[in-house]
Amino acid sequence: MKKIISMVLILATACMLAACGKKEESTTLKMATNAEFPPYEYYEGDKVVGIDADIAEAVAKELGLKLEIEDMAFDSIIAAVTSGKSDIGLAGMTVTEDRKKNVDFTDTYATATQVIIVKKGSPVASPDDLKGKKIGVQLGTTGDIYAADIEGSQVERFNKGFEAVQSVLQDKIDAVIIDQLPAQEFVEANDDLMILDEAFTKEEYAIAVKKGNKELVEKINKALANLKESGELDKIVAKYIKADE
Ligand code: GLN
Repeated sequence: MKKIISMVLILATACMLAACGKKEESTTLKMATNAEFPPYEYYEGDKVVGIDADIAEAVAKELGLKLEIEDMAFDSIIAAVTSGKSDIGLAGMTVTEDRKKNVDFTDTYATATQVIIVKKGSPVASPDDLKGKKIGVQLGTTGDIYAADIEGSQVERFNKGFEAVQSVLQDKIDAVIIDQLPAQEFVEANDDLMILDEAFTKEEYAIAVKKGNKELVEKINKALANLKESGELDKIVAKYIKADE
């Protein structure tokens, strides 16, 4: 009996020392984002703010972690999550089958559409008119994929949605395909621009997590469910969306 007890003690100590094969628990939640996407993520001074930043802050709080935001190119986010450099990708990111091959997604937290921005008076009046046109997009986004699928299109890829919008203003391209809320922000800031009534698609945003990290997905889903139920999520969205929209 004594022998067994001491064996158990030795094992328990070994287990503690090796933390039972578990990685040391991190105290931070590292969020990869591209802070060029108002109202979801953008800079206010040197701070990244927006709907996603606030959601991440609330989720981190529920998880008892400190949020750390890492700003990068949109098309680097999945790689950052895959490599473990970042814990989550939160960037108005649409859930797509293709992305699901590389990352897991949490439950969705928003619906979005891809819209078309043109200069007022443009001959482009509907998605059909985009055939053979020069279309600006943000590199690696779903808008990029749609634009590339349009017959005869020439796709100009930008790191920032804002740059694509500047390009349409300078008549270098015919239109921009981008998510609706950022589109509204860009168009509001410029009288010469408009958004076409006909939208492209309906999409869902979710948080990307390293493939196979079921534990984190479950924890985040629980936190998201709490935020939805308590009305906190609606409050965050309302904070960043002006009442007239
Ligand atoms: N929702 C789009 C996508 O996932 C664009 C996201 C973004 O530019 N931040 O591709």
